[in-house]
Amino acid sequence: MTPKEVLAYCRENNVGAVDLRFTDFLGQWAHTTVPVSMFGEAVFEKGIGFDGSSVQGWQRIDESDMLLLPQPDTCFLDPFTELPTLNIICNVVDPITFEDYSRDPRFIARKAVNYLKGSGVADRAWFGPEAEFFIFDNIQFDQTRNAAWYHIDSDEGPWNRGTDLGPNSGYRPRYQRGYLASAPVDKLMDVRNEMMQTMIDCGLTVECQHHEVGSAGQSEIDLRYDELVRAADNIMTYKYIVKNVAARHGKSATFMPKPLLDEAGSGMHTNLSLWKEDEPIFAGDAYAGLSQTAMYAIGGILKHAAALLAFTNPTTNSYKRLIPGFEAPINLAYSQRNRSAACRIPVYSTDPATKRVEFRCPDAGGNPYLSFSAILMAALDGIENKVDPGQPLDKDIYDLPPEELKDVPRTPGSLAEALAALEFDHEFLLRGDVFTRDVVQHWIAHKRDQEVESMRRRPHPFEFCLYYDI
Ligand code: GLN
Ligand code: MG
Ligand code: MG
Ligand code: MG
Repeated sequence: MTPKEVLAYCRENNVGAVDLRFTDFLGQWAHTTVPVSMFGEAVFEKGIGFDGSSVQGWQRIDESDMLLLPQPDTCFLDPFTELPTLNIICNVVDPITFEDYSRDPRFIARKAVNYLKGSGVADRAWFGPEAEFFIFDNIQFDQTRNAAWYHIDSDEGPWNRGTDLGPNSGYRPRYQRGYLASAPVDKLMDVRNEMMQTMIDCGLTVECQHHEVGSAGQSEIDLRYDELVRAADNIMTYKYIVKNVAARHGKSATFMPKPLLDEAGSGMHTNLSLWKEDEPIFAGDAYAGLSQTAMYAIGGILKHAAALLAFTNPTTNSYKRLIPGFEAPINLAYSQRNRSAACRIPVYSTDPATKRVEFRCPDAGGNPYLSFSAILMAALDGIENKVDPGQPLDKDIYDLPPEELKDVPRTPGSLAEALAALEFDHEFLLRGDVFTRDVVQHWIAHKRDQEVESMRRRPHPFEFCLYYDI
């Protein structure tokens, strides 16, 4: 849509408010709303001011004024407001110079795409994220002086943890047997359908929705792949819809990567393919229908994986998901069929247009603009420097004897380790000024101080179990 078309659309749909949205440094949507009477064509050029100093991880207090510049090709009617409201995604710029703000994640994503184009390797980067989440009925916190305990209920629980046996489950999913379950075992069909339809109404293309493996309400809705910036915009809209539809049903949805002990975690497998002049350059005959270029891309992703995970798996909880036994990747290897490898090459189709690499590490706890940009930069580094990904691991990695795995690097064991890896290995992100040094340093500092260290200082509920009686 052009600005004129956006305004016409507002009139046709009796829009009363326009909601300007942007993604903060950590990956949450922030918004400010103006009455439609304040929203004319000039706003697309002059922007709307806000105070950037109060946004997590942004400006210092002495230079806090910033502008939101609405992007007319991103708008959609909000499905949850009573007053018809048009949501519109914005770029963040300096109010005097109109320069893009260097810590605006969407700007970083736009720079990543420009860098790709300038490299001559490809002109389009397609991203297909598969975000998983749990839907819970009730979550209660019991905050004591020394530790927070929580209790979670799911419509589909309780589950017989750790066993297939046990009593009649009363049409509840059995332990780790929720995958593709149908009703009445699947109790979330209507909720997921409503999420799916709401996404479609908001202009997203949905490919499918299903119950996931986790027996306590785990779900997945898959969006069609899209170009990098748009794919990240789409994930923001996706998470907004998932959470709000759940809330409308009196439930809550969480993208936390590992909310439950001994249940599947929630990932956001990210499928990547590159195209040049309308040709898929990942298709070929090097391995599993992939080209040598795609192999080098895998080489780059695996080479930089430890650092990459500081963006794609950026919570302390992310590393509780990356353990054996739950289809989450733990070894930095690639394979065409194996879901335990960090990079999988799906073989559903031989059509060259579908050839892609599925990077299975990411979860939805991060900032999709930064995650996708970092993945692209690692892949590009692999392509430009011809990084050999080594031999595929076409076996079930979980079952391999330790000797066979001794040379296979592992995913980092904690956010602290991933941040240390990023501190050591980030030159590949700085090419073309895509990530500035400030962005990388600021990310590391924020995650270390606010999350890793804050977590480390807290007595953990399980420590009470282990140590209270000693
Ligand atoms: N939940 C798994 C993960 O953590 C993926 C399971 C699947 O998609 N089959 O990555
Ligand atoms: Mg999937
Ligand atoms: Mg899945
Ligand atoms: Mg997948």
